[in-house]
Amino acid sequence: MTASADYLARYGASFINTFGTPKLVLDRGEGVYVYDVDGRRYLDLLGGIAVNSLGYAHPDLVAAIADQAGKLMHTSNFFTTVPQIELGERLGALVKGSADVETRVFLANSGSEANEAGFKIARRTGRTRMVAAEGSFHGRTMGSLALTHKAAYREPFDPLPGDVTFVPYGDADALAAAVDDTVAAVVLEPIQGENGVVEPPQGYLSAAREITAKAGALLWLDEVQSGMGRTGEWFAHHAEGVTPDLVTSAKGLGGGFPIGACVALGEAGTLLTPGQHGTTFGGNPLAARVALTVMDVIERDGLLRHAAQVGDWLADELATVPGVSAVRGRGLLRGVVLAEEIAPDVQQRAQDAGFIVNAPRPSVIRLAPPLTITAEELEPFVAAFAGLVEGGR
Ligand SMILES: *Cc1c(COP(=O)(O)O)cnc(C)c1O
Repeated sequence: MTASADYLARYGASFINTFGTPKLVLDRGEGVYVYDVDGRRYLDLLGGIAVNSLGYAHPDLVAAIADQAGKLMHTSNFFTTVPQIELGERLGALVKGSADVETRVFLANSGSEANEAGFKIARRTGRTRMVAAEGSFHGRTMGSLALTHKAAYREPFDPLPGDVTFVPYGDADALAAAVDDTVAAVVLEPIQGENGVVEPPQGYLSAAREITAKAGALLWLDEVQSGMGRTGEWFAHHAEGVTPDLVTSAKGLGGGFPIGACVALGEAGTLLTPGQHGTTFGGNPLAARVALTVMDVIERDGLLRHAAQVGDWLADELATVPGVSAVRGRGLLRGVVLAEEIAPDVQQRAQDAGFIVNAPRPSVIRLAPPLTITAEELEPFVAAFAGLVEGGR
């Protein structure tokens, strides 16, 4: 029996079965590679689902965590700390970009929690109706789940907080028809990651901005997956130059350490008043220090430009592979669309060959590797990909 098989049996006997059987038992990581407990090495093209933006055991992150852990990890929100204050300022500045607007941040521990804060801010408009998109994913807590479209995720838990209207993603006319002055907020992902890396047509986010402004509704962009440099911009919506009212972030924000944030721009930042929301762990100095370090490294190493360039190269290479009908997405968030519904097979073959990818849909392979990955490191995967697709047909 391999060490992996033994551990998986213990896992199966100990955990509530929410995730099925894990695909690997991992032991450690270094750079863009992870190693399982049997010593096998994998090139990680999924990055913990767009989380491990600096790869594994990044020396700057390891040093920052060790240093901060030796100073202060947690204080309660009766108190603040210098890393927390610096992160509030810096994240606000990154989200607003060149927009001339004030920003206010709420720090949480995950994407779902960041979205719960967004949901509560939306309720404080005095309106209750929410508009979300078909194909959306906003998380698993009851509020974020109410905004998530997939029936299989939602229906076992009905009734969820109402009242949410779903509109076809990317259809500005349908959005305009659904939004009136009863709508508190429109929540959209700039790119739908879980739905298979789906991009709306150009101009959609600007149209959403116009439609919501006219109705007095908030425009809330969920950048949990698409943000923090993943698409080659700090936040994906920057490519369209829109200024939303709310932006939620998590995943890559902590580079592997749990943290989430809800950033409010302008008046949306004043809707919650003392006592209306809170968190025990959110905004702790360790998480804040990690997020600041992620930002430092992305800036210092020019990883936005790097992600854009390597991502374009990767997409061009994969687009010419027989059996691939399109490569969607931007930067290092990509959906490789296969001509047939064989993505789960391709995922398994890839793993057997030492590559971690995932199949969010039956015909889509998602790639969201560390932003640090180089073309040289990707080369073996690019060379193997035709065989992985061919073998699954
Ligand atoms: C992953 C994800 C979430 C949920 O984040 P969790 O940290 O798993 O709670 C929310 N929105 C989007 C767009 C995501 O990709």
